Amino acid sequence: MKTTTNGLFVIISSPSGGGKNSVIEALLPRVSCATRLVTTTSRPPRPGDRPGVDYHFISKTAFEEGMRGGHFLEYNFYAGHYYGTQKGTLDALLHTHDVVFSQIEVNGKHALDRAGIANLSIFLVPESLDILEARIRKRGGLGADDIERRLAQARVELEESSDYDYRIVNKEGKMEETVDAIADIITSRISSHLST
Ligand code: 5GP
Repeated sequence: MKTTTNGLFVIISSPSGGGKNSVIEALLPRVSCATRLVTTTSRPPRPGDRPGVDYHFISKTAFEEGMRGGHFLEYNFYAGHYYGTQKGTLDALLHTHDVVFSQIEVNGKHALDRAGIANLSIFLVPESLDILEARIRKRGGLGADDIERRLAQARVELEESSDYDYRIVNKEGKMEETVDAIADIITSRISSHLST
């Protein structure tokens, strides 16, 4: 049941392969009245990607038309593909849920900050770049160039995420600890919101 007037927008970022998707999936049943904002991308689905659940998959041309039509609150060009948050979707979800999760990357978070969109931001830091690389390779679906681009981008994101509200090391094999820590942060944020 929804208890707040306006939901809390929680941005969870990590470098590619950093585990944000699994962390959000694990948080959804833990946090009451929570949902996930499904963003739009022009990248082709990878093995296991669920259209309409993980992303709305559209063509590059359709994405560019959407950009020109002002359909995105923010968008980013990442590793050769577009990713964006559709206008209207966030507002609608914040009206019907206490917590809305989104797994956008660092540029998207900064664009939303500039647009004055309130958020609680959490960056998942990998234990090491070697572990991150192994995870990206294991997930499959990407060529060698794409993997290199993602690792280079990970280094940039680690530097540019210093202004996130929280940075949490997502230890290999210890995702439960990460999920517990984030659930605690959200619970205390919501209870302080309700008591003000
Ligand atoms: P992937 O291809 O691994 O699913 O995602 C690549 C990157 O795009 C990830 O860092 C992910 O967080 C980011 N991303 C996903 N959706 C959006 C979005 O709507 N906007 C922005 N700015 N980044 C997104």
